Amino acid sequence: MAGRGRRVVVIGAGPGGLAAAMLARAAGAEVTVLERAPRVGGRTAAIEQDGFTFDTGPTFFLYPEIPREIFAACGFDFDAMVPMTRLDPMYRLRFEDGRTFDATPDVARLKAEVARIDPEDARNVEAYLADNRAKFEAFRPVLQKPFLGLGAFADVAMAKALPHLRPWATVDADLKRWFRNPDTRLAFSFQSKYLGMSPFKCPSLFTILAHIEYGHGVWHPMGGCNAIPRAMAECLARMGVEVRLSEPVEAMTFDGRRATGVRTAKGSYGADAVVVNADFAHAMRSLVPDALRRRWTDAKIDSKSYSCSTFMLYLGVEGTFPEMAHHTIHLSRDYERNIREIEAGQAPFEPSIYVQNGSVTDPSLAPPGHSALYVLVPVGNLATGTDWRAIAAPYREAVLDRLKVLTGHDLRPLIRTERMVAPPDWRDMGIHHGATFNLAHNLGQMLHLRPRNRFEDLDGVYLTGGGTHPGSGLPTIFESARIATKLLAKDLGLDAGRVPESAMAEAAE
Ligand SMILES: Cc1cc2nc3c(=O)[nH]c(=O)nc-3n(C[C@H](O)[C@H](O)[C@H](O)COP(=O)(O)OP(=O)(O)OC[C@H]3O[C@@H](n4cnc5c(N)ncnc54)[C@H](O)[C@@H]3O)c2cc1C
Repeated sequence: MAGRGRRVVVIGAGPGGLAAAMLARAAGAEVTVLERAPRVGGRTAAIEQDGFTFDTGPTFFLYPEIPREIFAACGFDFDAMVPMTRLDPMYRLRFEDGRTFDATPDVARLKAEVARIDPEDARNVEAYLADNRAKFEAFRPVLQKPFLGLGAFADVAMAKALPHLRPWATVDADLKRWFRNPDTRLAFSFQSKYLGMSPFKCPSLFTILAHIEYGHGVWHPMGGCNAIPRAMAECLARMGVEVRLSEPVEAMTFDGRRATGVRTAKGSYGADAVVVNADFAHAMRSLVPDALRRRWTDAKIDSKSYSCSTFMLYLGVEGTFPEMAHHTIHLSRDYERNIREIEAGQAPFEPSIYVQNGSVTDPSLAPPGHSALYVLVPVGNLATGTDWRAIAAPYREAVLDRLKVLTGHDLRPLIRTERMVAPPDWRDMGIHHGATFNLAHNLGQMLHLRPRNRFEDLDGVYLTGGGTHPGSGLPTIFESARIATKLLAKDLGLDAGRVPESAMAEAAE
C-alpha cells in the first residue's frame, strides 16, 4: 500500500483533530492522537454533572453534510451514530422590550415574523433570501459543497467575482440593501455570533451564513453537540487509532524546520507529520521555539486581533420551561454599546445573553422534571486586563438578575447544580487570551492571511481547528481537517483519494 508505515501524530482531540485522525487513518497512516484533557471533544466536550449534560461550547450545529462525508469516507454512517433533530424555529431572538422574532425556514412564517418588526421590511424577505442563495450559487463553479465558499476568494477567478460580493462592506451595511429597520438587520445578522464577531465589523460575505441556516437547517444532535466528537472517538477506536487522553504534548521536536515528532511527559513520539489541533496561537507559543517561525512569530501572534470571550453558566435547574425556545438570544437594548464594551475587553453592563433550553427538545439532558440551561454571555477577551478573578462572582449575580428580568424566572432557588466558566478558565484550557472563537475573522485575518492548513513556517506540520483556514465553527473546522489531511496525504504518499475532495484545498495550499 502507498505510504505504508507513515506515522502521523495529532495534537488535540477537538473536532478538528478527531476528524483529521479519522481521515489520515483512512488514507493509510498510522495515527496517534494525544489529548491533554481526560476526555475528547475540546471546546465541544460534554460537561456531565449530577445527572445533567451540557455542551461546553457549540450548541448550534449547522451543515451536517461535511461530517457526513468524513464519516462515509471512513466507512461509518454519521446519521446512525449521531441522531439529530432539525429545529423549527431555529432560534428565537428577544429584544429587550419583549418583542420576539422566531427564525424559521418557513418563508410565509418568516415574513410574518419580520412584519411584526417592520411591515415594510417584510416585503423584501423573499428578495433577500433569493439574493443570498444567488450569492451562494456564485461559488458553485468553484465549490463542491455550498458551505465551503470562503477559501475560494483566494482563487483568481473568484477574485474577479469579489466586487459582486461586496467583501469590504460589513454584514450590517450589506443588509441595509434589504432592510431599513435596524432590528430586522439584527435579526438577520445574528450569524456573526458563530464567529464571535459584531455584525458592524464582520465582513459582508458572511451574510451567506444565513443561507446555511435557512437553506440547510439548524440541527440538534441528541445528547448535544458533544455527541459528535464522542462518535468520532468511537470511529477511531474501531479504526485502530489510539487516542491517548490526559497526555499533553510538551514540545514538538524538529530537525531544522522539519517536524520529527512530539514529546510528552510519558515519552517521545516520532512522526512523519504532525497535525496541530490545539489552539493555534497558544500551541505555537508553547510548543514551537519562536526562532523556528518565520511568519507566525510570537510578536506577530501578539499583534493579531482575537475574538470575544464568553462568560458561561451551566445551570441544572428544577422545573421545565416549555415556553422557552430551544435557543433564545436576548438582545441588549443598546446592542452597539454592548459590542463596544466587548471590544474594549470589558464585561458588558447590560449584556446580550444567549440561553439554550435544550431540554425542550432533548429530555436526555436533564433528569425528569428538570432542565439543563446553558447561559452564554459574550464578553471581552483577556488581551486587555479585566480582573475576572475579582468580578466573576458578582458578574454571576448580575447575569442571574438580568435573566430574571429577561425571562421572568428567578432561577436561583431552582438551581440544583451549576458550573461557571469565565475568560480565565478558557485561558487555562490553553486558549490564547481566552478568545473562545480564535483569531478574529476580519478580512486581514482570513483566507491566505490566516495560518495555513499546510503550515507555512514549518515542514511536516498541518493545522486543523478554528484558528486556521477557513475559520471557527464546526462546519469550517471539519473542512479544515479535510483540507489539512488531503495535503498531508499527498505529501506523505498516502492514499489521498480516500480523503473527500475539498473545494478549498487549492486556496489553502
Ligand atoms: C462557548 C462556545 C460556543 C460555541 N458555539 C458554537 C456553535 O454554536 N456552533 C459552532 O459550530 N461552533 C461553536 N463554537 C466554536 C467551535 O466549534 C468550537 O470551539 C470547537 O470545539 C473548536 O474545535 P477545534 O477543533 O478548533 O478545537 P478545540 O475544541 O479547541 O480542541 C482542541 C483540543 O486540543 C487539546 N490540546 C490543547 N493543547 C494540547 C497539548 N499541548 N497537547 C495535547 N492536547 C492539547 C485541547 O485540550 C482540546 O481538546 C463555540 C465555541 C465556544 C467556546
